[in-house]
Amino acid sequence: MSEPLSTPLAACRRRIEAAAEGRPIRLVAVGKTRPADDLRALAAQGQRDFGENYVQEALGKIAACADLDLSWHFIGPLQSNKCREVARHFQWLQSLDRVKLVASLAGHRPARMPPLNVLIQVNIDGEASKSGCAPDDIPALAEQVRAQASLRLRGLMAIPEPHPDPAHRRAAFARMRELFDRLRVRFPEVDTLSMGMSDDLELAVAEGATMVRVGSALFGKRES
Ligand SMILES: *Cc1c(COP(=O)(O)O)cnc(C)c1O
Repeated sequence: MSEPLSTPLAACRRRIEAAAEGRPIRLVAVGKTRPADDLRALAAQGQRDFGENYVQEALGKIAACADLDLSWHFIGPLQSNKCREVARHFQWLQSLDRVKLVASLAGHRPARMPPLNVLIQVNIDGEASKSGCAPDDIPALAEQVRAQASLRLRGLMAIPEPHPDPAHRRAAFARMRELFDRLRVRFPEVDTLSMGMSDDLELAVAEGATMVRVGSALFGKRES
């Protein structure tokens, strides 16, 4: 793949590589608020995994990129009335946080598609307003996912509190790594720990992330 060294994608990959010490890390490009053309430009440089937060916005882009062989990750808060569309159009769900959604996701996954890859989202800082399950709820949720043939348990995801002290964020990543290691003892097929974004991907990778989700470092700052 030819790829000028000066692109944001190349710079991002270099940051990841510098932190990864030879471990393979999967980069998910987070395209929320970005038009499909921006995603296509990144795909032309070899990017394959794309993350989206809003189902309606994502469906338009998935359709607009249907000629490309891309993997779509749903990373936003999941409402029960959106399970059907997520199960039908995405390869990954990174934000499962309650048992209630499992049967609906499984039931809506079309038989012609491979199992939906599922990450359990953990509310690692115990923030009251945030999505994600409590660490103690992980095993029960994992069992439920594994009981469904149309779902494939892959691991854990977290969005630590955006604390100004990097040591505070690093400690949250380290706690996620412990939960991940514990889950893997029980379920050896688990292989994915999704954590780290534009501002802190080095910290997350140093603490054991296998997948990072990067938006603004690839596409520029979002209007807020
Ligand atoms: C927006 C978002 C990202 C990417 O954030 P950046 O700081 O732009 O890299 C990653 N994960 C989730 C869940 C997001 O909503």
